[in-house]
Amino acid sequence: MQKEKVIIIGSGPAGLTAALYTARANLNPLIITGNEIGGQVAITNDVENYPAFPEGTTGPELVDLMRRQAEKFGARTEIDEVIEVDFTKGSPFFLKTHGDEYQADAVIITTGASPTRMGVPGEDEFIGRGVSFCATCDGFFFRGKDVVVVGGGDSALEEGLFLTKFANQVRVIHRRDKLRAGPTLAERAQKNEKVSFIWDTVVEEVVGNGAVEAVTLKNVKTGAQDKLATDGVFIYIGHYPNTWLFEGQLKMDDHKYLVTDDTMMTSVPGVFAAGEVQDPVFRQVVSSAGQGCQAAISAERWLAVQGLD
Ligand code: NAP
Repeated sequence: MQKEKVIIIGSGPAGLTAALYTARANLNPLIITGNEIGGQVAITNDVENYPAFPEGTTGPELVDLMRRQAEKFGARTEIDEVIEVDFTKGSPFFLKTHGDEYQADAVIITTGASPTRMGVPGEDEFIGRGVSFCATCDGFFFRGKDVVVVGGGDSALEEGLFLTKFANQVRVIHRRDKLRAGPTLAERAQKNEKVSFIWDTVVEEVVGNGAVEAVTLKNVKTGAQDKLATDGVFIYIGHYPNTWLFEGQLKMDDHKYLVTDDTMMTSVPGVFAAGEVQDPVFRQVVSSAGQGCQAAISAERWLAVQGLD
């Protein structure tokens, strides 16, 4: 069994920033990356809203720079997946991966969240070529184009409204005839002349040739099918935080996001969380990185108080 001072689970912007800060505090952190290094941003082609990159950058480049910066100060990366944890007995905490077992004095969880997918043909095939889960990231590329937004919640409307800055028209496709979104966003969307609604309808297929060209639709009340030409499909049917590993051990909210206090500590002292695994609101690379910094500083202070630094 390997003994570590700090283990960081996950390697998105929150995890890599937590690694940078804990490494610079001489805690020699180990990042257990998950299946891929970088999380959601690693599959984002263009990142134009991360500060200090006036010309923009790519997700993979940003992740590579963050990883190299953390490693420069002594962070280590292990490409493996944590498959079991035991936080019930307090520090040191037990973690198991496919390849090893570990004890860690402190743990920082940055396992992120994943957008819920529709699960229809063409959806996965056209990710990055018209299908997107992030209007903030990709909206700019749809200047003057027609897009559809799938979903009827706050995210769908907020992101749909954001898309009106670029797109010609934004059609919101919702499976019911009533929005789940709150009244403020609903009213703003209904008043925006670029936004229109297609009610009681689900997407059955995303169609294209190299890039998205259309969606096939089905009215869930009448069963009528239709094909709608579009350049982009933005999917906002919810996110799920990657927290199954911590079920029954850490406090979660109704949507299974980890609950943290002001110091980013979870319900178990010594276990911290940062980024989208505990943040259903902001979900930006820069906010996740900031939370990773906060969790790292708190972990360092907690270890010092315990005499474990
Ligand atoms: P959400 O509130 O869960 O809404 C998801 C939407 O997707 C719902 O309209 C749902 O339809 C639809 N949907 C779910 N599964 C679907 C499927 N398989 N096919 C088609 N449609 C499907 O998720 P969210 O909008 O991401 O919001 C999550 C939380 O963050 C909410 O509490 C929200 O209030 C909050 N939030 C707040 C703001 C804000 O206040 N500015 C912004 C964003 C998010 P049904 O309505 O029929 O269930």
